[in-house]
Amino acid sequence: MAAGPAADPALVAGVLHGDRRSLAKAITLVESTRRDHQQRGQAVLEALLPHAGRSIRIGISGAPGVGKSTFVEALGLHVIGLGHRLAVLAVDPSSSVTGGSILADKTRMEELSRAPQAFIRPSPAGRALGGVAARTREALLVCEAAGFDVIVVETVGVGQSETAVARMTDLMVLLQLPIAGDDLQAIKKGIVELADLIVINKADLAPERAAEARQTLRSALSILRPTSPHWQPPVLALSALDGKGIPEFWGQVERFRDTMQAGGEFAARRRSQAQDWMWHLIDERLRADFRAHPGVEALLPAMLAAVAAGSLTPAMAAERLLARARQG
Ligand code: GDP
Repeated sequence: MAAGPAADPALVAGVLHGDRRSLAKAITLVESTRRDHQQRGQAVLEALLPHAGRSIRIGISGAPGVGKSTFVEALGLHVIGLGHRLAVLAVDPSSSVTGGSILADKTRMEELSRAPQAFIRPSPAGRALGGVAARTREALLVCEAAGFDVIVVETVGVGQSETAVARMTDLMVLLQLPIAGDDLQAIKKGIVELADLIVINKADLAPERAAEARQTLRSALSILRPTSPHWQPPVLALSALDGKGIPEFWGQVERFRDTMQAGGEFAARRRSQAQDWMWHLIDERLRADFRAHPGVEALLPAMLAAVAAGSLTPAMAAERLLARARQG
């Protein structure tokens, strides 16, 4: 990239001192869709990067109503009590459609949002999921530089958002309701495969069903390939509402971190996530440049029509378009 603007030193210093206004301002810059803001945001990020990374990044996913906000609030208050600082971010695939956000409702996480050791940031609204996830990933780094050592990234259990969150976190938690064994079979295999830890929430409502669901999930997990050879994902039953099981949950998070660090996997995961991220950005930029190429733009409608009509194979059409792009 051409030399961009220099990082605003006051803003960088403010973030590093944990000043909330600076933190919010820096995140607003990296989240902005304005090109000049983005460039300033990237400069700030570059200055902050050496101070980022010292946290545990926890992804939390589950269907609407499963109790994610209640759980994050209970967990947040618990870890703050242990002396940690917690930031909560969100990737909300629905915000690109509705313009709303899963964390936008101010009544949620009321107690946690008042705590000076906590920072809650709703999902940036607008545009496609890829863009929202990109901005959340960068906001996460800003929060780390500001001294937050526990980062929670929340998402709803639909579509590609879990995968996006799993790619930016150390540990993926799946929240489930205490539903009966038969219904559990319907849980999408792919999502269970992403989970490092499964929580059956609202166990207070149906303790027996929660125990049964726990058993079913445990046996389902035992036949799946674990996310790591050193870690068999535990299944916990708890109640976010009355806080029962939250300390045990946090104990499992610490055990996960210690186990993965001992095996060198913790750092390895982050390295490959960062490299994947670089490739993702390259793919995205190349595709955008390709689509913006005047020759490609001119040829594209005819190629799309020919492929749709079956008069040209997709491979031949792709080859012609790529050849046109290479002509410069
Ligand atoms: P989200 O949409 O996944 O963020 O779910 P919320 O945290 O907003 O919770 C949805 C509803 O479930 C709220 O009315 C909560 O009070 C309730 N809830 C959350 N956790 C529990 C729990 O452990 N037990 C019970 N009984 N209710 C809960």
